[in-house]
Amino acid sequence: MTEAADLVDLRSDTVTKPTPGMRRAMAEAEVGDDVYGEDPSIRALEERVAGMFGHEAALFVPSGTMGNQIGMRLVCEPGQEVLCDADAHVVTYEMGAAAAIFGISTRTVVTSGGRLDADQLIAQVRPKTDWHLTATAAIAVENSHNRGGGLVQPIDELRKLWDWSREAGVAVHLDGARIWNAAVASGTELSTYGRLADTASVCLSKGLGAPVGSVLVASAERIATARLWRKRLGGGMRQAGVLAAAGLYALDHHLPRLAEDHEHAQLLAKRLGVDPSTVETNMVVLDDVAAPVIAEAAKAQGVLVSRVSARRIRLVLHLDVDRRAVDRAADVLSELL
Ligand SMILES: *Cc1c(COP(=O)(O)O)cnc(C)c1O
Repeated sequence: MTEAADLVDLRSDTVTKPTPGMRRAMAEAEVGDDVYGEDPSIRALEERVAGMFGHEAALFVPSGTMGNQIGMRLVCEPGQEVLCDADAHVVTYEMGAAAAIFGISTRTVVTSGGRLDADQLIAQVRPKTDWHLTATAAIAVENSHNRGGGLVQPIDELRKLWDWSREAGVAVHLDGARIWNAAVASGTELSTYGRLADTASVCLSKGLGAPVGSVLVASAERIATARLWRKRLGGGMRQAGVLAAAGLYALDHHLPRLAEDHEHAQLLAKRLGVDPSTVETNMVVLDDVAAPVIAEAAKAQGVLVSRVSARRIRLVLHLDVDRRAVDRAADVLSELL
């Protein structure tokens, strides 16, 4: 049996637990009723994140799924469609929410491993002026790309899509659950990414290590509408400042350290014979492996990995995986491979 302390959990960066410092910040948070707009910690977090991304306003939401779905609803009416890549989180891992809740149709384009090719998407857009077609109201872009193994979207393609979208009157939604990783890896400012989207959802509970929460950013007018949707969906929270305090703490203390996770991913890739150039942020993908067998055998030795498919394993580096844990995981996995 492996002691709990020796467990190396590489399944996801969502598994991080709040650190003692973060717990202190949560305990000491100033709070109020956020449905009344009276929670100072929530307000501080929303203002800060809006500013970081160069937007007017922001809304704290319980999850990235809610951030994405409300974000898309702000720029797409029922009966219209959101266009995105076939591996996007918004169509793969959000339980059909756009259709089930909002009557939004989604159309997907098969891309090269999730990498954005603006022309490819633009070619698929359907105009709002045709009597027969489902109008494309918005395009959703994921950065970094989860099923793409944490790849960072090329800034030139993001710019090209944005410039085109202004002319075409099509909105851009950014699923920025891991935009922090993309920014750290590419050296691109968060505000640059933010200004290339009408709406963006960013997660505090992934690499940043907060226990709960995402933030939706957009114009002040759109965020006012988002607030209604959040309440309607049951996402209006009361003294949620304890959660916002964790988010603020994470921005102060955990954002700068993401580079360490990226270094660990490089290290792990090298040890496992994965081409390091395919590792852009905090994920390592093992392809053409007997995923169920390896996952089970690794688990028996205290290393938890994520099975993406029968032939693919995903390893995610995060706050709770230090250098020693990286070495241990590399020892166990290299043996099994
Ligand atoms: C995790 C994630 C989300 C949001 O997931 P929640 O579990 O709802 O917080 C959204 N997009 C991507 C790419 C993600 O990885």
